[in-house]
Amino acid sequence: MLDCAIIGGGPAGLSAALVLGRARRSVALFDEGKPRNRVALASHGFLTRDGASPAAMRKFAHDELAAYPSVRIRGSRVEDVAREADGSFRLTDAAGESWLASRLLLATGLKELLPEIEGLGDFYGRSLFCCAYCDGWELRDRPLVLVAGNDHTFHLAKTVYNWSRDLLVCTNGYKSLEPEEERVLRARGIRIDHREIERLVGADGQLTAVRFADGEEAACAGGFVAERLRQAAPFAERLGCALTQYGGIETDAAGRTSVPGVYAAGDAACIMPAQLIVAAAEGSRAAIGINEDMTHEAFA
Ligand SMILES: Cc1cc2nc3c(=O)[nH]c(=O)nc-3n(C[C@H](O)[C@H](O)[C@H](O)COP(=O)(O)OP(=O)(O)OC[C@H]3O[C@@H](n4cnc5c(N)ncnc54)[C@H](O)[C@@H]3O)c2cc1C
Repeated sequence: MLDCAIIGGGPAGLSAALVLGRARRSVALFDEGKPRNRVALASHGFLTRDGASPAAMRKFAHDELAAYPSVRIRGSRVEDVAREADGSFRLTDAAGESWLASRLLLATGLKELLPEIEGLGDFYGRSLFCCAYCDGWELRDRPLVLVAGNDHTFHLAKTVYNWSRDLLVCTNGYKSLEPEEERVLRARGIRIDHREIERLVGADGQLTAVRFADGEEAACAGGFVAERLRQAAPFAERLGCALTQYGGIETDAAGRTSVPGVYAAGDAACIMPAQLIVAAAEGSRAAIGINEDMTHEAFA
């Protein structure tokens, strides 16, 4: 019986594993290795690691965790989590192997649904991003395109305006701006185009233009896309954890979900702000919550 099973080896899960390993808890961390930012060449805003690649950050973490013998990292996908009669959790991975754990931490992150536009995948994570706090600095003062894909286009345009005043919002037929919102953006000189996008144009990851269905092109030197998000794993829902109005797993200040024994951390819980350093902090907080709860239980 493990003290804790962690599903997800992004900053939230890895940080929790470190704190629990240091607290001498037996931990298995399962990670299928598809973090949200895997397409990015560099990650920003994590103090002491600004500009490091996602792969390098992960390697730093794995190297540090190797010092803690009670932590095991398994590079496998968890397929199922079932509750046993004694309240423990049985995890089964893709190879059919199973483990029992007294506590479960969901650090499974989010999955993004990007607008289906030809060429978008060539630029996403290189010159087209989803978060101005992550990549706005690199795109500052450039002519940028904002591609609508959710209902927060107005918010994204206002936010990106802090980094560049040369903005073209392409709604691509997506009804994402109210007339009053459009008026406010246009009053700041932000251009708005409702034409259908045929494809994104550029080379070697650098976006240079948006081509509309009528053949016309609008030049740009990068941009942002408003994506839709959903939970990357089904376990919170399957176990009956309450969700927030934004679709995150509801937790208290110690990372406890509404289901006893189940904890959550990182993007899966927080949704916004989705930041590596926030996810890492949440993982640490949930690990302390888990260790405190186990300690109190042992002394009860
Ligand atoms: C393009 C892009 C660029 C970004 N750039 C930055 C940046 O520069 N700075 C910044 O602070 N933030 C950035 N972010 C946001 C950042 O990536 C997230 O906030 C952060 O990764 C969240 O960490 P997490 O641990 O919660 O989830 P993740 O990092 O997404 O990790 C979750 C892990 O759980 C695994 N998993 C899920 N389900 C299962 C399962 N069933 N079994 C096993 N494993 C599973 C996944 O494969 C994944 O490895 C960026 C996001 C994107 C999309």
